[in-house]
Amino acid sequence: MSEEKLLAQDTAAEGAEEKISRNFIENAIDKDLAEGVYDTVHTRFPPEPNGYLHIGHAKSILLNYGLAQQYGGKFNLRFDDTNPTKEKSEFVESIKADVAWLGADWEDRLFFASDYFDTMYECAVGLIKKGKAYVCDLSADEIREYRGTLTEPGRNSPYRDRSIEENLRLFEDMRAGKFEDGSRVLRAKIDMASPNINMRDPIIYRVAHMTHHNTGDKWCIYPMYDFAHPIEDAVEHITHSICTLEFEDHRPLYDWVVRECGFAQPPRQIEFAKLYLKNVVTGKRYIKKLVEDGIVDGWDDPRLVSISGLRRRGYTPESIRKFVEISGISKSQSVAEMPALEYCIREDLKLSRPRMMAVLDPVKVIIDNYPEGQIEYLDAANNLENEALGSRKLPFGRELYIEREDFMEEPPKKYFRLFPGNEVRLMNAYFVKCVGLDKDSDGNITAIHCTYDPETKSGSGFEGRKVKGTIHWVCAATAARATVRLYENIIDEEKGVYNEEDGSLNLNPNSLTVCEAWVEPALMEARPEDRFQFVRNGFYVADLRDSRPGAPVFNRIVPLKSSFRLPTA
Ligand code: ATP
Ligand code: MG
Repeated sequence: MSEEKLLAQDTAAEGAEEKISRNFIENAIDKDLAEGVYDTVHTRFPPEPNGYLHIGHAKSILLNYGLAQQYGGKFNLRFDDTNPTKEKSEFVESIKADVAWLGADWEDRLFFASDYFDTMYECAVGLIKKGKAYVCDLSADEIREYRGTLTEPGRNSPYRDRSIEENLRLFEDMRAGKFEDGSRVLRAKIDMASPNINMRDPIIYRVAHMTHHNTGDKWCIYPMYDFAHPIEDAVEHITHSICTLEFEDHRPLYDWVVRECGFAQPPRQIEFAKLYLKNVVTGKRYIKKLVEDGIVDGWDDPRLVSISGLRRRGYTPESIRKFVEISGISKSQSVAEMPALEYCIREDLKLSRPRMMAVLDPVKVIIDNYPEGQIEYLDAANNLENEALGSRKLPFGRELYIEREDFMEEPPKKYFRLFPGNEVRLMNAYFVKCVGLDKDSDGNITAIHCTYDPETKSGSGFEGRKVKGTIHWVCAATAARATVRLYENIIDEEKGVYNEEDGSLNLNPNSLTVCEAWVEPALMEARPEDRFQFVRNGFYVADLRDSRPGAPVFNRIVPLKSSFRLPTA
């Protein structure tokens, strides 16, 4: 171990334990507070309402909200609705629901960037008056051409030296709707030779005759993101404006805007690496395409990692929080894996949810020596590892269903489940021994005949003989039918997310399998979003949209087993 690391460990051991996990953002905030740059912490989550949120946004939400909580500060939810083309009220509502579901409470601090259009306009006028902004008549293509490249400086626009008076008049005319879309823009006057291209007189306002979901037709000029965003933060007294790495090169412009617009306590921008999941479609753009092409059943399809999709799939806010926590906050790009998220939901549900019996691919078992017509009720613990969940009465009768794969007529070695002549334990019930088979004319097994041993009733303390296999079952006379959906990655993992030839997505044709299962009667009462373990199979949730008590639809959240191990630090 490096000396540095040892030293860090020592220091951590002396101080509070939480110091061990301090990330670079917390360090920066600590420093700001210690030096008196800020006396509080005020963060925000600033989504653009142009789609549904996804797991990457969850990271940003939980990070920003978590910091506000941790430092006793404030957290704003602010819609960055400065681009009317792509924005919809539907998205505003879905985003609010998702942020609330994740547990990030903005209280009464819900804001819309469009509420600051007047302030932004005044800031722009202020810049013009200081000689720091000008109206430019170059076309978009010309602006690009004048901008230069990474290796060559840009050239000044011929309109750069317009007088302040002319600029004020033209900007006012832009606002008054006297110009066509794209004919004129307002640009910051910074430095066309700056090594940072973002500083080469960036556009800060454009003409766009569009109706805005909030301000209607009041405006026909709209501010550009790099100008609007710092003002939004400053107006709300945000202290730490946390964004993703691609904005690092925009930071000098961010600082320029808040400084030149004269905000007293400018916010500080801090960047961190986006969350990427291997072999998973995360970008809003791609999720949108799957939705629009009808490949998935809406933005909340359980195969998507949109927050509403994850919710429908059965993930809990706690599991997502845990995942964000273990994936860490970093300054360098890294890729997380879906199995890590799956680990987090298993951990959350393992002890907290009842373990029920459901048979997805049934074959009938007839217990020849069990009285016909008799049903008895056996005690079954709801979760052997968590007594607090209590127990339930499980009906048992002469006819049962078991999983087809739990029986083999000619078993290989080390197959310990049911086969002719072999004895197994029926979970929560008796030992049964296979004594015969019924087959149809095509040779398919239609029923398995067994005998049971009344002495071996579960819980009666029978220690007599050993059986190697325990299988689950449901009582045929009382079982209920339930629709069960099994999911796989919507992406073909062998091929990777994108088709290299045309950039399309490599889809897995088997991402959804629907089956009709037999489930124990208690599962019929499941309400939407109730979660269960189906023993020996996986964790399931009653679908938020399609499930009803009496007619449940279960989504498999994750299978029970995984080779995933939590990385050790
Ligand atoms: P996408 O990358 O899916 O198109 P976006 O960045 O356009 O999303 P915004 O609405 O602009 O979406 O993002 C809101 C906030 O969420 C921003 O602060 C952004 O940095 C953050 N964010 C977006 N994607 C991720 C991600 N993968 N990991 C962490 N934070 C993210
Ligand atoms: Mg964006």
